[in-house]
Amino acid sequence: MNTYKKAFENSNVGDILYDEPMKNHTTFKIGGNCDVMIIPTTQEQIIEALKIIKANQFDFRVIGNGSNLLVSDDGLREVVIKLHDNFNKVDIKDDVMIAQSGALLSNVSKLAINNSYKGFEPVSGIPGDIGGAITMNAGAYGTEIKDIVNKVKVIDSDLNIKEFICEEMEFSYRHSRVQDEKLIVLEAEFLLEKGDKEEILHNFHDFTQRRTSKQPLDLPSCGSVFKRPEGHFAGQLIDEAGLRGYRYNDAMVSEKHCGFIVNVGNATCNDVVCVIKYVQDKVYEKFNIKLEPEVRIIGGK
Ligand SMILES: Cc1cc2nc3c(=O)[nH]c(=O)nc-3n(C[C@H](O)[C@H](O)[C@H](O)COP(=O)(O)OP(=O)(O)OC[C@H]3O[C@@H](n4cnc5c(N)ncnc54)[C@H](O)[C@@H]3O)c2cc1C
Repeated sequence: MNTYKKAFENSNVGDILYDEPMKNHTTFKIGGNCDVMIIPTTQEQIIEALKIIKANQFDFRVIGNGSNLLVSDDGLREVVIKLHDNFNKVDIKDDVMIAQSGALLSNVSKLAINNSYKGFEPVSGIPGDIGGAITMNAGAYGTEIKDIVNKVKVIDSDLNIKEFICEEMEFSYRHSRVQDEKLIVLEAEFLLEKGDKEEILHNFHDFTQRRTSKQPLDLPSCGSVFKRPEGHFAGQLIDEAGLRGYRYNDAMVSEKHCGFIVNVGNATCNDVVCVIKYVQDKVYEKFNIKLEPEVRIIGGK
């Protein structure tokens, strides 16, 4: 901790939190403390933080809304950079929308929908921000981020600002080059297309209704824990393996949607990992199918 304090002393990187509980920054409400969290307010402060990180050979990680993170109970021995709230500007001009990485996908979608632009309805309920959604190529109901984004602005590992068109982002199922190259997403550009307002609103309400009726949104979770195995649905396999409601301490396979593990009280990362492993074993035993986590499990020794 003192090494971090020394390195960031008198720096201009924005707010600095030491020994910060990660459970306050994840939708699972789980996670030990990170040694240091930097919350910049400008691009210059991000770069300044990265220069200090590089000079001191620290590990680092950027987080968004923490809706796809399962953080170890031992916390994180690295610099966490949180862009979320301070980078949430969205602009629309001449049918082009530019959204900063911290803007929530739900807010970006609503802005598009309210201005009669189509295409965002299926992804409007994903609780991530633009940075997280680009990193994960988030998607729902047949539409992924790769289907609607035009360009992405990033900082690369040499601290250069670069722009990639969609085809250069190497998007695939829940994956993009951001993950491989440790890029930092700054903003995304969307080319907008007008549609029929009534139809757009109808679709939006339909997708919202499907989500609220099928997902346990009243309990902390990270959404679908597992990637969709080809030709199957993880939730269905878990249900058919008899695991609906399977519980270890306060981590439980959701009764409402078996693809979700919910935190029904004070679940730890270890509790969730135990449920994940049990589910993987049972599904493999019964169907010979390996379930791969979609949630990013981070930290630990
Ligand atoms: C109730 C619920 C429902 C969900 N439904 C869906 C769904 O329908 N479809 C779906 O795809 N996902 C879904 N998710 C999962 C999650 O919302 C998505 O993966 C989302 O894209 C994660 O965004 P985030 O901002 O929360 O990212 P985080 O969870 O904070 O981070 C995810 C990854 O992105 C990286 N990252 C975040 N921001 C940046 C940045 N600016 N630059 C570089 N790297 C960055 C992080 O390091 C991490 O590796 C759901 C989650 C919940 C809780």
